[in-house]
Amino acid sequence: MTAVLAVDIGGTTFAGAVINSSGAILAHAEYPLGDGPTATLRRLVTGLARPGLAGAGIGSAGPLDLAAGTVSPVNIPGWRRFPIVAEVAGLLPGKPVALAGDAQCMALGEWWRGGYAGQARTLLGIVVSTGIGGGLVLDGTIYLGPTGNAGHIGHITVDATGERCPCGATGCVETIASGPAMTRWALASGWQPGGGPGTPDAKTLAADAAVGDPKAVAAFARAADALATALLTTAALCDIDTVVVGGGVAAAGPTLMDPLRQAIGERAGLPFLRRLRIEATGMGRHAGLYGAAALALNPAQA
Ligand SMILES: [Zn+2]
Repeated sequence: MTAVLAVDIGGTTFAGAVINSSGAILAHAEYPLGDGPTATLRRLVTGLARPGLAGAGIGSAGPLDLAAGTVSPVNIPGWRRFPIVAEVAGLLPGKPVALAGDAQCMALGEWWRGGYAGQARTLLGIVVSTGIGGGLVLDGTIYLGPTGNAGHIGHITVDATGERCPCGATGCVETIASGPAMTRWALASGWQPGGGPGTPDAKTLAADAAVGDPKAVAAFARAADALATALLTTAALCDIDTVVVGGGVAAAGPTLMDPLRQAIGERAGLPFLRRLRIEATGMGRHAGLYGAAALALNPAQA
């Protein structure tokens, strides 16, 4: 059975796995960045490499340059235009190496092995964290786009008169619904983290919202409303079956998912939008590894 190496480049750890075409994980490893990202990558790949691998797939934090096969993850300053495809190919001589963004791999992994695998022709994966990323699976294939940037749902404008986004545009959903944006808005509206001098972050905000703190609840409602706009916009354009939500903010569970489903339920108009299914990820980081493997295995063609 065909097996490939999957690599997931996160901001603080690198994960890898050998995964076969049935979706079985034959080996798994994860390393902190430690003594340098390049040395860690080599250790990960050489530790997992074995005879008979058909190739490798890599999911990486962005920005990426797909044509050049390079990555410049924001949280890894030592890697700017790092030639990750050439580096991994050099460790697996003669094997094809595929690259995509981490959120794109999350979407593809959810489509292939997630809770609704086999039920969705079109799936949008969205990662709500310090930023907001996404990936679009159309008929079983991750759609990367000519520059590799398809799925940048965090930069859909949901408030044309809103706050300026670091990307240069105005009112992007990321300026409202990312963890730092929600925290900033809640503090400005008088939120007291943890009811007093708690840590002012998205985790505390979620905990406060879960016990009914009105400012924290309002921050989640505002974020859910912005996310609903971006999701319905995408669904209207691409006839999406399923949205899978992951990332640190999504770890808030029902605190985010309940107002999000409610906002979508209230505002979805056309029948094909009312059938949109919104789910929290049940796979965690494994979605990214499965997606990276799927880049190399192409299960839609199997
Ligand atoms: Zn933006």
